[in-house]
Amino acid sequence: RTVYVNGEYLPENEAKVSIFDRGFLMADGVYEVTSVLGGKLIDFDGHLKRLERSLNELDMPKPAAFDDLLEIHRKLVAENGITEGMVYLQVTRGAPDDRDFVFPDAETTEPTVVLFTQNKPGLANSPAAKTGIKVISIDDIRWGRRDIKTVQLLYPSMGKMMAKAQGCDDAWMVEDGAVTEGTSNNAYIVKDGVIITRNLSTDILHGITRAAVLRFAREAQMKVEERPFTIEEAKAADEAFVTSASTFVFPVVEVDGAAVGTGSPGPVATRLREIYLEESLKAGV
Ligand code: PLP
Repeated sequence: RTVYVNGEYLPENEAKVSIFDRGFLMADGVYEVTSVLGGKLIDFDGHLKRLERSLNELDMPKPAAFDDLLEIHRKLVAENGITEGMVYLQVTRGAPDDRDFVFPDAETTEPTVVLFTQNKPGLANSPAAKTGIKVISIDDIRWGRRDIKTVQLLYPSMGKMMAKAQGCDDAWMVEDGAVTEGTSNNAYIVKDGVIITRNLSTDILHGITRAAVLRFAREAQMKVEERPFTIEEAKAADEAFVTSASTFVFPVVEVDGAAVGTGSPGPVATRLREIYLEESLKAGV
């Protein structure tokens, strides 16, 4: 694979980042994952805008390469022959001369920019889209700024491991009695024809796929309610699903061992997945 590091395109085994990089030492970095379908970038503008917001919220300087990011994404997709897959982009506060809690001077320390591709043939036809996934619930013990897409992914990673240990696929995190989101996706239930998903705040990541899917749902005259919901509501729902750039829409068929609805993927999740794939592919760049 060819990867991108700070202005250079290199074979992955030649790419290097300093051990003093604050991304490595302090998780002082942000990221984006953009999916590729038919060789096109899906929802690229949304991901770029959210990256800019994440950088602003953390007072991280905009990297010099910011305006070239579309071109860099496209070059890696072409060079690595990606038809279906993902582009991972990470920006950290860079590598000062020494470890220090104080942010380095933006004049002397450039952000570190890394991009690589992941080849995922069959991404759009993932078996999980047909079978649905099983989730468990776990406490949400993450920090309070989940709206910033930082690389602090240890707890979400542990959540996936807890789910796996119970023969499930993912974990929905619960805080003050309500579901915040999945470890790497936004969470939804459907009850009596209404799509319910947590409202935007600092409690959850403002999913780019969420924004698109809710827009398509409203355009298709489906009812949407943005509010917190409980695990009990999820167990009693007609349907449940998750959205993210890497999964698009996955139906959720089991929550904490209880079948949701019929226990198989429901019509709303199935339809939204179809619309999302069709529309975003048309709009891909
Ligand atoms: N919530 C969390 C915690 C995530 O990590 C992600 C994506 O990785 C999402 C939601 C979905 O966001 P998006 O649709 O922008 O991929």
